[in-house]
Amino acid sequence: MTALVEYPVRSEVTSFLSGGPKRLLIGGEWVPAASGRTFPTHDPATGAVLAEVAYGQTDDVDRAVRAARRAFDDGPWQAMKPNERERLLWRVGDLLSERAEQFGQLESLDNGKSAGIATAVDTAWAADVFRYYAGWATKIEGSTVNVSMPFAPGGQFHAYTLREPVGVCGLIVPWNFPLLMAAWKLAPALAAGNTVILKPAEQTPLTALLLGELFCEAGFPPGVVNIVTGFGDAGAALSGHDDVDKIAFTGSTEVGKKIVDAAKGNLKKVSLELGGKSPNIVFADADLDLAVEGSLNAWLFNHGQCCVAGTRLFVEGTIFDEFTRAVADAASQVKIGPGLDPSTQLGPLVSQEQFDKVTGYLAAGLADGARALTGGKRWGEQGFFVEPTVFVDVEPEFSIVQEEIFGPVVAAMPFDADAGVAAAANDSIYGLAAGIWTKDISKAHRTARQIKAGSVWINQYNGFDTAMPFGGYKQSGWGRELGAAGLDAYTITKSVNIAL
Ligand code: NAP
Ligand code: MG
Repeated sequence: MTALVEYPVRSEVTSFLSGGPKRLLIGGEWVPAASGRTFPTHDPATGAVLAEVAYGQTDDVDRAVRAARRAFDDGPWQAMKPNERERLLWRVGDLLSERAEQFGQLESLDNGKSAGIATAVDTAWAADVFRYYAGWATKIEGSTVNVSMPFAPGGQFHAYTLREPVGVCGLIVPWNFPLLMAAWKLAPALAAGNTVILKPAEQTPLTALLLGELFCEAGFPPGVVNIVTGFGDAGAALSGHDDVDKIAFTGSTEVGKKIVDAAKGNLKKVSLELGGKSPNIVFADADLDLAVEGSLNAWLFNHGQCCVAGTRLFVEGTIFDEFTRAVADAASQVKIGPGLDPSTQLGPLVSQEQFDKVTGYLAAGLADGARALTGGKRWGEQGFFVEPTVFVDVEPEFSIVQEEIFGPVVAAMPFDADAGVAAAANDSIYGLAAGIWTKDISKAHRTARQIKAGSVWINQYNGFDTAMPFGGYKQSGWGRELGAAGLDAYTITKSVNIAL
């Protein structure tokens, strides 16, 4: 039996969690679900209930969509100047920075991730995203177009484009980076002048609700930001709603496809960030110490619960045994524990469901004939902890090689540099990210072009930046988030042509 020590929780986190069930944010008011129902959200390190949360369903989604529609069509939001939207978004960024520790601890309790990382990475980056898109609010521009109009010889014209907000946007986010994924969607959507309904994941609704308080405090007009907590049926109601103009979704490829189906009714716009099974490629000429450390980060960051996780580790055959041994040794040294323990490097998985899924893949890998250099089973007897696991002796058709596991599990495969690695790396329905480790600059660029993935990181992994577009090839998604490209998902172009 592994006894889990209790760690001190900040008073502002305790006070947020006390005081009765958390409510929905609709039209600027905190309201219970129409049904009066609530559901519990848990600490995955202990299984303890953290809070009861309003169980939003179709009626609540309807109310939220009406509020967002009113705010879009009639509210002060449309009349606001871009620099006023800029100031409001900047204020949210500042409030997030001021309260980063509160957000970090709350995220850690709800999700299981390290509180230190949730503060320094998730929350700090979310604040950066709000400030980045605050800056864009005043820089969303159309263009003047030098038209020829061959059917109107002799005419003179003044033609230009406007980039307008899409309208009412449903933002559906997962549990792996609850606050950050919300920020990635909210900030560009609001910078562009849309109104939104945010639907957090059932496992991790708390930081979205705390963020809702910041929107109220910053002075956003009622109805611009609405938050409906609940389950998949609330997400489905949003995706199928005829008065929603756009859905932005991050989550599984399976649910992404359901959203595409549901969106058909009114042909709402859809952008999708879906699953991955990303290749991480280590050439023999790499800085191997750097590559060991980076490869560990590639598949273990956030306990492997990353859409970009580098879970197919391709290692040049001449260094395969030595390199995988070094990765396994480093993985076995990782400190496992609850997220509130400052020394924790690997926390629990988010839920019983995710724990069952990941341990199921461990069993399937072993049954298929894979060998675990380290790990291969749960850790301890309490909480949803899984040992970091390095599989070798794997075949391309094994489920642990093909399917997204979303846990601390990597499958390592040797490759022959002369034969090339791109075909094996691209043998996936996904195409989200890739890592390449080599000191040969030409090989690095050449391989980057051969890999079908939305992000390629060279001599690093998880090389994200707010200014760099992010998104998938193949079944990893539609559209891009972050950067200037991230605004495309939340704007629609109008062409205006005037005969002079
Ligand atoms: P998921 O079902 O795709 O959930 C993502 C979001 O979609 C949640 O807010 C979810 O609500 C909502 N949702 C569920 N069913 C919906 C529907 N029919 N229509 C609209 N929205 C719906 O992901 P999950 O069940 O949490 O995780 C399952 C697997 O997906 C994981 O094991 C992992 O492999 C993958 N995943 C990928 C990512 C990623 O970033 N690519 C993130 C999370 C999970 P509820 O939370 O209430 O179900
Ligand atoms: Mg789900």
